[in-house]
Amino acid sequence: MTGTAVVVGAGVGGLATAIGLRRAGWSVSILERRTELERYGTAFGIHPTAQDALDRLAVGEDFRRLAVPYRGARIRTPGGRVVANLPLERIERKFGRPELLISRPYLIDALLEQLDAFGNVPLELGENVSDVESLVAGHDLVIGADGIGSAVRAACFGVRSAPRRVGTVAWIGIADFESGVYGETWGKGQFFGMTPVEPGRTNWYAAVPEATTAAQLCGYFEGWHEPIPRILAETDPAIWIRYEMRHLFPALPTFVCKGKVALVGDAAHAMTPNLGQGACTAILDAEALTRAVAERGPNGLTAALRAYDSERRRSAQRVAFGSRNLHRFMSTEHARLRNSMIRLLPS
Ligand SMILES: Cc1cc2nc3c(=O)[nH]c(=O)nc-3n(C[C@H](O)[C@H](O)[C@H](O)COP(=O)(O)OP(=O)(O)OC[C@H]3O[C@@H](n4cnc5c(N)ncnc54)[C@H](O)[C@@H]3O)c2cc1C
Repeated sequence: MTGTAVVVGAGVGGLATAIGLRRAGWSVSILERRTELERYGTAFGIHPTAQDALDRLAVGEDFRRLAVPYRGARIRTPGGRVVANLPLERIERKFGRPELLISRPYLIDALLEQLDAFGNVPLELGENVSDVESLVAGHDLVIGADGIGSAVRAACFGVRSAPRRVGTVAWIGIADFESGVYGETWGKGQFFGMTPVEPGRTNWYAAVPEATTAAQLCGYFEGWHEPIPRILAETDPAIWIRYEMRHLFPALPTFVCKGKVALVGDAAHAMTPNLGQGACTAILDAEALTRAVAERGPNGLTAALRAYDSERRRSAQRVAFGSRNLHRFMSTEHARLRNSMIRLLPS
């Protein structure tokens, strides 16, 4: 063993980081506040660069078995007119393979399987970490992978680093049929998205200024093109998930602190979901951090953390900034002007 690490949070970022550290020979434990790993969540888009990172973490094969390609997605008006293509074909041409979609529970399973293969990574459930200082005192390395409301981030940067609302409510769900129509429909101040996720099902998401009930949500999409009304009518609102869109603003000055703490994923750079990069950036963080640590060993930890910060911070914060701007663009009340601008973009 080369050092001891504790990972706070067993989401995508935490599990991927634990795998990378364990592969580098570290002794790793994971603390998760949930009492069980909940099997809910809809689909994540995984960009080819994040697929490469999963390959380097030896999870690529399991992940690909459970993922589906994302192609043929369009941006539409509420009446159903196609305004533009989402740039998926461009991504596929550039990287030689498609963006893939995977349901969150499947990705978590693939990561857990790889951790199980190592056999000795304790995952302690029901551990709601608040005392970060004692973790710092007891380990060579502490990873804050505890999501948007990160206690580890608060211990490093104080309550001023808490996430802020962007004034939009998102609802997500899975329909038990294949819509055959994919992409996003942008209205005035609200939008609706549909993607494949697995055979026989459709992943959907909706964003509106405010809706506390399912009926209020449906009201925003009355008269929109099919299959949006069908999706809302035929899925059970009891399994829809509602959350307030938030992001980290201002961005953090560094992803490392206290000489031995590193933040990954939403803990470091929570962003609006518009670019669909939340899981990708968490995976890229985990791979970059654990590669830097593996290359330098426990004696080179300070240099490894510096290398991680310099490889990932600007890049992840640029994605977060782009996602926030896209959110403004998609949610604007000036829909006609926006749609004219989109038509001028290269397909
Ligand atoms: C149950 C769940 C379902 C989700 N579903 C979707 C979805 O359908 N679509 C989507 O786009 N995004 C979803 N997300 C968010 C998405 O997973 C993240 O934005 C992205 O994957 C980045 O992952 P992360 O590991 O940084 O953070 P997260 O996935 O949020 O993981 C953070 C983990 O840390 C744990 N944690 C938090 N605080 C503490 C603490 N103090 N002590 C110990 N553990 C702590 C949390 O319980 C969680 O398991 C979901 C997140 C969760 C937790």
